Amino acid sequence: MKRSLAIFLVVVLSLFLVGCAGKPGPENTKKKEAVGTSSENTVAPTPEPTPTPNPEEKTPSEKTKYIANKNTKKFHYSHCSSVKTMKESNKWHFEGTRDELIAQGYAPCKICKP
Ligand SMILES: [Zn+2]
Repeated sequence: MKRSLAIFLVVVLSLFLVGCAGKPGPENTKKKEAVGTSSENTVAPTPEPTPTPNPEEKTPSEKTKYIANKNTKKFHYSHCSSVKTMKESNKWHFEGTRDELIAQGYAPCKICKP
């Protein structure tokens, strides 16, 4: 019986030793110095603001504001100097194409050339 006890002890001892060996020793992880982790220094490139397309391109069929003279049967741009001297009663504020005015018997002014 003593022999079996010895074997038992050996087994237990060996298990104990194995257990000790299996234990993770002192952590081998040295404190890693934070090297170059300061990513704040890298400035992200600011994206260029995309220029919005100019929406001032006018199609020929677009409506334009004209001032037509009901007396002289001529039509002008609203900024024409003749409009200022025009009688208010003769003014006809027209919005459309010049072709529409011509079709109604109006002629384009020779000063502002609408
Ligand atoms: Zn005019």
